[in-house]
Amino acid sequence: MMAQYVDENDFQGWHCAKCDSDLELKEVVVSYMEGSFPVELPVCKVCGQVFIPESLAIRKMNEIEREMEDK
Ligand SMILES: [Zn+2]
Repeated sequence: MMAQYVDENDFQGWHCAKCDSDLELKEVVVSYMEGSFPVELPVCKVCGQVFIPESLAIRKMNEIEREMEDK
């Protein structure tokens, strides 16, 4: 099951701080609590650095937590 938690508009204009490359959405497995979740996150095309806006991460993690509690 694939959940898209990041909108491309959220990181439009972002560049990797290290190599100044563009970012692209890639599937990344995030570990949280006792599970891991495949999510799409902006990743540097060159060095593979994953970017998670802090506010977004907190919001999305709360959503994941809610989803887990609903089960
Ligand atoms: Zn980079």
